[in-house]
Amino acid sequence: MSDIKFRVAICGGGVGGLTLALTLSKYPDIVVDVYESTANYSDIGAGVGIWPRAFKVLRKLGHDVERDLLRAAGHKWTEEFVPAINYRKSDQPKGEQIFQLMTKGDLMRFHRSDFHHVLLSHISPSCKVHYGKRLVTYTQPLPSSRGNSPVTLSFTDGSTATCDILVGADGVRSSVRACMMREMAAGSSEARAKAILSCIEPVWSGATAYRTLICAEKLRARDPNHRALKEPTQFFLVYPISLGKYINFAGFALRPELVRTAYQDDADATRPAFNGSWVAELSAAQVAQPFEGFEEETKPLLECVDRGTLWGVHTVKHLPAHNFGRVAILGDAAHAMMPFQGSGAGQGIEDAYLLATVLGHKSTTLATVTHALSVYDKVRRPFSAGVAERSRRNGQLCALQEDVGLKELGEVITKNWEWAWLSELDGAVEEATQMLEGGGTARPLL
Ligand SMILES: Cc1cc2nc3c(=O)[nH]c(=O)nc-3n(C[C@H](O)[C@H](O)[C@H](O)COP(=O)(O)OP(=O)(O)OC[C@H]3O[C@@H](n4cnc5c(N)ncnc54)[C@H](O)[C@@H]3O)c2cc1C
Repeated sequence: MSDIKFRVAICGGGVGGLTLALTLSKYPDIVVDVYESTANYSDIGAGVGIWPRAFKVLRKLGHDVERDLLRAAGHKWTEEFVPAINYRKSDQPKGEQIFQLMTKGDLMRFHRSDFHHVLLSHISPSCKVHYGKRLVTYTQPLPSSRGNSPVTLSFTDGSTATCDILVGADGVRSSVRACMMREMAAGSSEARAKAILSCIEPVWSGATAYRTLICAEKLRARDPNHRALKEPTQFFLVYPISLGKYINFAGFALRPELVRTAYQDDADATRPAFNGSWVAELSAAQVAQPFEGFEEETKPLLECVDRGTLWGVHTVKHLPAHNFGRVAILGDAAHAMMPFQGSGAGQGIEDAYLLATVLGHKSTTLATVTHALSVYDKVRRPFSAGVAERSRRNGQLCALQEDVGLKELGEVITKNWEWAWLSELDGAVEEATQMLEGGGTARPLL
């Protein structure tokens, strides 16, 4: 027991939480418990794409993890330039090719549950995952009396647990974020407290997403050469997953005037709430309706839809910090963003890896962990905020809401997005390590 340096509780076992648990598995002196609100993971639908920058982080988790992920995706790892997404202007009877997005390394495309199961299967047996544990709130001792006192977690079933460090990986409606913002506000002036407390509730971004999985066999029977069977295409976005068994479909509708201000501090005064439940079931006809009149090639796809869901895409405002005392947040809890660069999960993966690196660093102990968490915040928060902004802008560009002609669109979209395949997390990891060792400064904005 004396070899244990601290106990970390991860609230939320989604992509971010499981990546953190998996990365912490390589530090035997850190005890990890994951508290997940659902009873199991059986209901994780839809596809998720991971860009090379985030996939390179996953590769660091070990050869076996990489092998199983590649197997689940049905891809080979490459660092060559490859065609990633084909863009078409399809909201007209005769579609028009716009451009082919080329990326250095492939977009790794997964069924979410396959992705999840690979992560889960590689977590150290010493890490316990507790299902059916929905966190309501936590309390941490005040800095003056902190010492070695634990953080106490309270769950909806009335039970409690303790830990030394709490990480909120509990998604866009994070309970940990809510509690952390209240803690931060308590020591602030009235005006600042108001601004901090306004970050608790996510805001509707102005985007709605129509999501479904289409049975590839059904589409093949109608049109054996349909491009959605082979390649990612952005009419709405479609791409094959599960070794070609399904086609992941995500179509979007935007309120451009809201999208422009999705993360702004003062936006909520006039901002409408999303009208309806955040995720609603749709019939096949309801999924197809917004895309009526689109080019011929879209018809067989839409005819193969059985049902779908409508998502009111909510985002989290840029927060004053992603850490407070011995608590930190990551992934959507910290920066839920618009999905137009397919990077929310990737950013959660980066957060998790960097956070595990600072927690596992030899200089980090229970006495110094608040400093380690502030290093995580300094290095990661500006970067994820930059990605959120770029993702928002990509939505505007794809919806032709910026003054950019179709001819230039490819170049502008590529420039805005190439961070996802031309840059790496390694520099940030090095910088965080230097900061822990007494040097270095925070990275500039993306
Ligand atoms: C339409 C759409 C398409 C997207 N496509 C992509 C893509 O292609 N690539 C990409 O990188 N990103 C994509 N994203 C974003 C991505 O889905 C999210 O960024 C990612 O899932 C966030 O991961 P997370 O682990 O932070 O949160 P989540 O995945 O939301 O996981 C949070 C977990 O915490 C649990 N939880 C919640 N509350 C509590 C509580 N109080 N106590 C305990 N547990 C709790 C939940 O059950 C869940 O398991 C997309 C988003 C949308 C809306």
